[in-house]
Amino acid sequence: MKSPLEILQQYFGYDNFRLEQSNAIENVISRKDTFVLMPTGGGKSLCYQVPALVLDGTAIVISPLIALMKDQVDALRVNGISASYINSSMSSFEQNETLSQLKNGHLKLLYVAPEKLSAENGSFLKLLNDVNISLFAVDEAHCVSHWGHDFRPDYLFLNDLKKQFPKTPIIALTASADEITRKDIIKQLNLQQPLVLISSFDRANIKYFVQPKQSVLQNIIQYLNEHPNDSGIIYCLSRKGTEEMSNNLRENGINSAFYHAGISSLERAKVQEDFLKDKIRVMVATIAFGMGIDKSNVRFVMHADLPKNIESYYQETGRAGRDGLPSEAILFYSNADVIKLKRFAMIEGNEEQSDLMLQKLKQMSDFAEMQKCRRQYLMEYFGEKHDGNCNSCDYCLSDFESWDATVDAQKLLSAIYRLKERYGKNLIIDFLRGSKSVKITDYMRSLPTYGIGNTQDKNYWQNLIRQLLINGFLSESNEEFSVLKLNEESNLVLFKNKKVIFKKVREQAKAVTVAEIETDYSVPNIDTNDELFSELRTLRREIAERENVPPYVIFSDATLLELSSYLPNSKEELNQISGFGAFKIEKYGELFLPTIINYCIVHQLSSKIIEKKPKKKREPKKTNNNTSETFAITFELYKAGNTFEEIAKIRNLSINTIQNHLVNFVAAGKIEADELMDMSKIEPIIEIAKTQTIPSLKAIKDELGEGFSYFEIHIAIAYHKSQQ
Ligand code: ADP
Ligand code: ZN
Repeated sequence: MKSPLEILQQYFGYDNFRLEQSNAIENVISRKDTFVLMPTGGGKSLCYQVPALVLDGTAIVISPLIALMKDQVDALRVNGISASYINSSMSSFEQNETLSQLKNGHLKLLYVAPEKLSAENGSFLKLLNDVNISLFAVDEAHCVSHWGHDFRPDYLFLNDLKKQFPKTPIIALTASADEITRKDIIKQLNLQQPLVLISSFDRANIKYFVQPKQSVLQNIIQYLNEHPNDSGIIYCLSRKGTEEMSNNLRENGINSAFYHAGISSLERAKVQEDFLKDKIRVMVATIAFGMGIDKSNVRFVMHADLPKNIESYYQETGRAGRDGLPSEAILFYSNADVIKLKRFAMIEGNEEQSDLMLQKLKQMSDFAEMQKCRRQYLMEYFGEKHDGNCNSCDYCLSDFESWDATVDAQKLLSAIYRLKERYGKNLIIDFLRGSKSVKITDYMRSLPTYGIGNTQDKNYWQNLIRQLLINGFLSESNEEFSVLKLNEESNLVLFKNKKVIFKKVREQAKAVTVAEIETDYSVPNIDTNDELFSELRTLRREIAERENVPPYVIFSDATLLELSSYLPNSKEELNQISGFGAFKIEKYGELFLPTIINYCIVHQLSSKIIEKKPKKKREPKKTNNNTSETFAITFELYKAGNTFEEIAKIRNLSINTIQNHLVNFVAAGKIEADELMDMSKIEPIIEIAKTQTIPSLKAIKDELGEGFSYFEIHIAIAYHKSQQ
């Protein structure tokens, strides 16, 4: 039996597993149930594809997206793995063909659409009784839960899976599940003492930018001209918006198309296909576009209009950079969008729902307006801790100076106080600036605060109000026309002279390529030979065309970039390139090598493969977590006596990341827990952890209250595991 790592290297051409992949794989191989929560692009597929190749029999993969299914099967076949799919869009002849392959045991993986489960009263599942099944993988597992955002009745047929196949392991995978949904999935699928693996939602290779929504078209065109090789998605709110934007881009010579629910399904399928095949560079779309878009080389996702909530924003931006290469998310923000969306959020007769939507909208606008690391905001939104300083968002990359706003804040707050907290911001600003508007009554004019803010313009006061609101110095009622209200903090400023210090941007970071970030791919500080890169892309497109699959199924951009940087000259050297497994070397090696060698001759270059970090040792290890190189570096630095802060600084990572690395060494017994925390705290943490079916750090922390950090909880759990 081959080890998972050997399979990974031979079939998929990757060096090592990402965090949690190896845990999931080991668990499935030992025939136990598994629940995997990973963000989009995290690498869920390998969690069942690798066990499918290790175990005897056929893996049955239930996946709701037909387009994706075909892609996945193509990608497996290109890697030399026998896989197929079955859905009701196929003729019964094709379906029977596939079923007979299944019965003959010729398939390592079979992808099944959910509607096949319910068809003919579940006859498909009955048929599986005569087949040797290695495992069941339930992709997009939130579809089985009413709590999820995409419930599918067909998935309910999976309820009986465990009863019918008690010995076959089930692995459930999803990118979107809050705690209730998570528990429900486990219950609905009847998973038996599943190993629950929850990966960080941080997408380190995506940079987040928020820019004011001004001259959007010019900004986008400039960006596209500065990134001529990049392909991506621009989301707009309305159908008309997508058409206008796309037409404008075309007039400016940019290859783009629009996509929304109002165009025929035939046309939609065509533009989507063209985008996947790199024939369309920029897709301008409403949110209708995206489900099932598995294109790995989406380099940017822009939002020309504000998304309704953080969930949508994160899901949409998450379509960037699935190949692990640096990518960008750019949001064009204006307060006018917030007002527009507020109107949409009000649902007549359903106050509860409206309140929820308004609250989510507010969190979206807070994200855009807050002076805070964008990544930190997102991570905290999803219940993860993050120390900020991600160094790859516009906030972290901007240059600030501090600004003492105490006096102006006092003027503003006293105006609100004098006017008895009965007005919204426009009137307050008019009042402060001594406006002659009819809305200002004679009584108001008689107050001493009237006109005391006339040296500053309207924008200034609007911005100050926004900052005060966001930073909790001021509150606002939750109505369509909201009224400004004082709170405890306001009183401290007004009556106790509390200082109000804000940061002011000295130089705003824009969406241009800046700092390096850690990714799986080690594109080095050497020339990437852009000309060769683009030749390789053309070659890839030709091959893809011939095989009738999307180009990224052949190789990802990341692989091509390694080729153009390291210039491998032989099949042995290709073996060092990420994404070139044994099968692909045989199949495509001869096709790519001549182009590279020719380029080397013309430009008098030679192979730089020795500059690539050598492939990791091939023997499988028990605990894969602490073998990964980045962890090892942190560990060495820690053992050498550096503090967390020092390590974070040296490695240019957050303290949080450093701590997460170290926790793995506690679990592996290489660091004693008492070096890192007060041992008397461990017991109370474990007591609470034990009461939870699915341990979530956040839930444990909520129960423990103040006095326990996430880090301590994390260590306690790791320590507890290491003791068992
Ligand atoms: P998900 O289903 O979680 O959205 P995928 O399984 O499609 O993500 O994986 C996203 C991308 O990451 C794919 O291009 C995949 O080949 C790549 N990938 C997954 N695991 C690894 C790994 N261990 N090393 C390198 N690349 C990987
Ligand atoms: Zn940041």
